[in-house]
Amino acid sequence: MQDYFEENLGKFRQFLDSLKKERPRIALDADEVLDAVMPLVVEHINMQNKKDYDPYNIQEYPSKERGFLGLKIEEVDELFDYIWLNEAHKIRKIAYEDPIIEAKKFYDINVVTTKGERIRKKFEEWLNSNFPKARLEVLTLQKHADKSELDFDIYIDDAPRLINKISENKKKFLFLVSYPYNRHGEISNVADVKNLEEAMKILVDAINERGK
Ligand SMILES: [Mg+2]
Repeated sequence: MQDYFEENLGKFRQFLDSLKKERPRIALDADEVLDAVMPLVVEHINMQNKKDYDPYNIQEYPSKERGFLGLKIEEVDELFDYIWLNEAHKIRKIAYEDPIIEAKKFYDINVVTTKGERIRKKFEEWLNSNFPKARLEVLTLQKHADKSELDFDIYIDDAPRLINKISENKKKFLFLVSYPYNRHGEISNVADVKNLEEAMKILVDAINERGK
């Protein structure tokens, strides 16, 4: 793991040097980066459709074209909304707050989600109670919007569709939080990380090494 970390740090430092920006802007994803909603979605699908998918080893990701685990995308969207609106208390936090606060010294960090307006309030409540000190601003886009078109330099996300979009754009960098559904080959401007803490450590280390 250590080898990967050094490799990713080197990759990111190169990007940071080429960016030449005082305070780079980070788009931080919510689902499966800050919170774990997907396992609850899969449990609902299992119950409703008498299936037996492992909630923690899902090999596909919801997409407009293919839906998700046999459901149409509209049904999947509805299920995500249902869980956020009615079962937000069951949604687990999967990241720590302090590394985010540390990174905020050097970067402008926004939470950017494609949850849609309908569940904005519920999500903000969840965020403020689980990450009370980080004071994260939320940008809510409509469902399936393309985040890569926004004016951010760095993305921390798990969505497979961002991989190609960002690797083709030399002005952007993606920290991809690894899951079975987003595996990919070697590619430029994308670094795989285990979790948010690993991304935050690279972000802060790269700044600290920049002055040396
Ligand atoms: Mg996500």
